[in-house]
Amino acid sequence: MLKLLHQYFEGVIKIRKFDLTIIGAGPIGLFAAHFAHLHGLKTVLFDSLSETGGQPQMLYPFKKIKDIPAYDSITGAKLIKNLQHKLTNEITILTNHKVKTVTKEDDYFVIDNLVASRSILIATGAGAFKPKELPLSMSENIKKRIHYFIKNPQDFAGQTVGVFGGGDSALDLALELANYANVKLIHRRNQFRGLESNVKKLKTLKNVEILTPYLPKKINLVDNHLDVNLKEMGEDNLTNIVLDHAVVAYGFKANNRFVKKWGIDLTGTQIKVNSSMQTNIPGIYAAGDVVTYAGRVPLIALGFGEAQIAITAIMRDLFPEKTLTIHSTSF
Ligand SMILES: Cc1cc2nc3c(=O)[nH]c(=O)nc-3n(C[C@H](O)[C@H](O)[C@H](O)COP(=O)(O)OP(=O)(O)OC[C@H]3O[C@@H](n4cnc5c(N)ncnc54)[C@H](O)[C@@H]3O)c2cc1C
Repeated sequence: MLKLLHQYFEGVIKIRKFDLTIIGAGPIGLFAAHFAHLHGLKTVLFDSLSETGGQPQMLYPFKKIKDIPAYDSITGAKLIKNLQHKLTNEITILTNHKVKTVTKEDDYFVIDNLVASRSILIATGAGAFKPKELPLSMSENIKKRIHYFIKNPQDFAGQTVGVFGGGDSALDLALELANYANVKLIHRRNQFRGLESNVKKLKTLKNVEILTPYLPKKINLVDNHLDVNLKEMGEDNLTNIVLDHAVVAYGFKANNRFVKKWGIDLTGTQIKVNSSMQTNIPGIYAAGDVVTYAGRVPLIALGFGEAQIAITAIMRDLFPEKTLTIHSTSF
């Protein structure tokens, strides 16, 4: 590694140098990047997904969030759009990159042999999440009609869409799609895990059919449609439904245990921090859903505050000689 950094400083290889690396570009990472930029920190932001935004963007873009200060309500997608809008070109954003290694070399952390950074803020939320897939064998042509994230429900206008799942995301997606499409909601239990009020709303809609307790068993492409074979739970009954598209909302697999390899102390799957949001490793901070301490609640507004605490502490670490400006009106 020493050789790597020397090569960098000699200009042989192109590891780029930053004051701060933020790992995870969910709402907290995005806000932290903006706040760090206000403080003049040269910042790089990584995300494992192809786009930034974390849970609000990927899991509940249409849901109205009612507990973000100064907004009556704001959808997940709009909140993320606003946060993205605050990022200038001076912040380097690297998507489609799951950070795997962090090592220390002299005064720098080296991240995936790509970036040398004087400090790190981990904002990986619940971890790099991957959707739980529909556990059926299927051809590539069928896969093109199976969706795990939905951006524009209008894309499905006039079509028949199957939504698979029974949690809040499945119910939100079914309600949103029902504005444009015919929806069949398929869940393996009669009871839904998501909000009862949303189940009630769905039951009133004429273009929504609720199929419970059914489990998909087989999926074929017939005459350009998905032909899905459903089995009634606990019975031998089989039934067929025909769909144009299927949306799978079975949840996500994610964890943060990989940070253990970097020497970071965890409690369960979350990172322990002190009151400055510093981990057990000086120079590495964490904020947002990835952290744990007594009394913490997994809410966005709280994570924003944690990001401010962490960035302020990082400024003090990196520039002890500076008189720190706290209020943005003085930046
Ligand atoms: C259905 C639902 C509804 C919710 N409603 C509300 C609400 O009304 N109000 C509220 O305040 N909160 C709500 N929440 C909680 C809120 O979404 C979270 O508190 C918030 O998203 C946490 O933000 P974060 O940036 O810490 O993490 P996340 O949003 O999880 O973002 C983490 C990012 O890190 C990336 N990442 C992870 N590991 C790596 C890696 N190794 N390398 C690179 N990138 C990585 C991930 O891809 C992800 O983009 C809700 C959550 C859900 C699931």
